[in-house]
Amino acid sequence: MRRIRRLKGSSREVIHKPTGASNAEAQTTVKPPMKNLISRRRFLLHSTAVCAMSALPDRLIGATNEPPEARLDFPLMDLHVHLDNSTIEKVLELPAARTVKFGIVEHAGTKENKYPVVLSNDAELKARNAMLEGKPVFKGIQTEWTDWMGCFSPEALAQLDFVLTDAMTFPGKDGQRVKLWEPRVEERVEMRDKQEFMDRYVDWHVAILSKQPIDILANVSWLPAPLAGDYDAFWTPARMQEVIDAAVKFRVAIEISSSFRLPRLPFLRAAKAAGAKFCFGSNGRYPAMGKLDYSVQMAKELALTHSDIFVPAPDGQKAVQRRFPAKRS
Ligand SMILES: [Zn+2]
Repeated sequence: MRRIRRLKGSSREVIHKPTGASNAEAQTTVKPPMKNLISRRRFLLHSTAVCAMSALPDRLIGATNEPPEARLDFPLMDLHVHLDNSTIEKVLELPAARTVKFGIVEHAGTKENKYPVVLSNDAELKARNAMLEGKPVFKGIQTEWTDWMGCFSPEALAQLDFVLTDAMTFPGKDGQRVKLWEPRVEERVEMRDKQEFMDRYVDWHVAILSKQPIDILANVSWLPAPLAGDYDAFWTPARMQEVIDAAVKFRVAIEISSSFRLPRLPFLRAAKAAGAKFCFGSNGRYPAMGKLDYSVQMAKELALTHSDIFVPAPDGQKAVQRRFPAKRS
């Protein structure tokens, strides 16, 4: 389930987050940057809608012999796409790019986090955004750990369409960040009492949701290998509800992950009942971006409509704008 590979031209081994299932208004604004931002947003939403109305194949929006409630009334967006060893140009040439709007995320946080690329300051973030400028995609980051807010100014973060994170990096016995998908994770994180670990893991989800200015929680309900075989036993209704309630309270969308095929249906049903917003993610690396089969399947099972689906917030309503300034003051 882990993806370990060697970077070209580098001896450094890079461990990716696992991607396998078993184991992404006014037009009359005064400031030029703001105007550009809004215009681009309007362009993206418009092109997304046109795309959805005209080009989605039946297998994605529901075959014509399915009842109307089985069809999706919203455009498909994969808000968890990593460029990694590809380029935005190559990604946009994929057939999936004609039917799915991509949200491109890059890992972001301190350099202590090990990924092929980690954006760690305003200059790096702005350079990445400039690379995507004018492309018909959303710009996002996948943040790491608890200290990423200190790497960027609120102004730089506000140039993004969304911020996504997950709960898979967890405090170890020594308090240091541990990737829960690492080999021998039990040596670094106390898991002997699995129920007790689950309680801490749920608390960790709630802490992230309540303290970090994020728009999307990704890879929701993923479990580390020592617990993964007993998902239904560990994700009790009470534990699910704690995470869901925090997501709803802090207006954080829950990703339906097609790479992990998570969360499972009971979790998603409880989230829908609580009024949560959802988004779709492939966590895809080239050329697997846009593969949203599980997300679409779950959306149909839940009869999700456009009002249940997260769309990147307009300027002023992004999580970094709603919550970051308040946290700093
Ligand atoms: Zn990711």
